[in-house]
Amino acid sequence: MITRKTFDEVMFPCYKPQNMMLSYGKGSYLYDSNDKKYVDFTSGIAVNCLGHNNKKIVNIIKKQSKKFCHISNIFVNKKTLKLAKLLTEHTDFEKVFFVNSGAEANEAALKLARRYAFDNFNKDKDEIISFYKSFHGRTFFTVCTGGQSKYSDGFGPKVSSIKHLPYNDLSNLDSLITDKTCAVILEPIQGEGGIIEAQKEFLLKLRELCDKHKALLIFDEVQTGVGRLGSLYAYMDLGVVPDILTSAKGIGGGLPLGAVLTFDKIAKHFSLGVHGSTFGGNPVSCAVGCHVIKKISDKDFLDKVKEKGEYIKDHLKDLQKSTNIIKDIRGKGLLIGIELQDAVIDKIGFIQSECAKNGLLVLTAGHGVIRLAPALNIKKKVIKEGLSILDKVLLDISNTLK
Ligand SMILES: *Cc1c(COP(=O)(O)O)cnc(C)c1O
Repeated sequence: MITRKTFDEVMFPCYKPQNMMLSYGKGSYLYDSNDKKYVDFTSGIAVNCLGHNNKKIVNIIKKQSKKFCHISNIFVNKKTLKLAKLLTEHTDFEKVFFVNSGAEANEAALKLARRYAFDNFNKDKDEIISFYKSFHGRTFFTVCTGGQSKYSDGFGPKVSSIKHLPYNDLSNLDSLITDKTCAVILEPIQGEGGIIEAQKEFLLKLRELCDKHKALLIFDEVQTGVGRLGSLYAYMDLGVVPDILTSAKGIGGGLPLGAVLTFDKIAKHFSLGVHGSTFGGNPVSCAVGCHVIKKISDKDFLDKVKEKGEYIKDHLKDLQKSTNIIKDIRGKGLLIGIELQDAVIDKIGFIQSECAKNGLLVLTAGHGVIRLAPALNIKKKVIKEGLSILDKVLLDISNTLK
């Protein structure tokens, strides 16, 4: 018999999954092995942007997998090239490199930045600037770059020449970013770090200093991209165009897919043989990716994402007034953080499991932040259903504190 217990028997213990066994999903609902229904505000950690068991996506997967699932990058196929074309048409960028995950996208972006500096400038121009609390993935280069040393400690010598700075802090930036800097990497909203938005002046200053010192500005849009914040990519709403953008999570509509987007003058430094991937640009993932990008780049669709996000935040602000346990409500579009008051921070795991018990799945982020990241096409009715469960759980906890 396969049960939740099987996890503890045969799986690496680096996760502690919730106590049920999920068996299927439909739209923004998930069902467990007892057929209990849950409202899904997690969308597989901001991945299933068009919901579960999406008819169109299922058909695309069927159709492409009957042709072939994988051919590798020593051949081309129409779906992969079509997706690259769509991405260049809908963004400012000119060139695409496909991978399978966010970490791989950032790994490629960081390698590319170092190679660009190595080829164009002197060998000392290798410093990467990143920010505390940032998260860029779990490969060794990306944990060393990320701003949480607990993810990079204990694995031997770290990748050198990476400097971490406080996010949104403009003081001293002028002296901290120098000619030695080859890249600055950041998330437009720190996702795993606790839904922390970059301020516009901060982004403008980073753009200015990168230009001044001929360093590349990298936006990690693995979580903020593909419509999550109500624009196809977050940079489009910010008035700052990065030199390299990384995308993953939502781009495959539930299948593993990631992409690095940049300009020709940078991409050309990944010349023949300099980088590669066996699975990157998988035809099935890319076929779905084409549908996702077409669907999500539609203005009406994106406006609805913004609208739904505002609706949720307004509702949460009311809840904040009627409970005494919410410190702050943050985020943009359908990436929303509910920061808990210090007195209940250690109850966050309990809140998450109480939500599940009552039929709502939510995420957490950073320190004491409940994170909501539902499918982008979630229906208003389902949002209301989920929020009423969240209300009940948070009000109950608030009342026990009185
Ligand atoms: C999730 C995430 C990653 C890592 O993506 P994986 O697909 O897990 O490798 C990197 N950067 C950001 C901002 C993320 O949210």
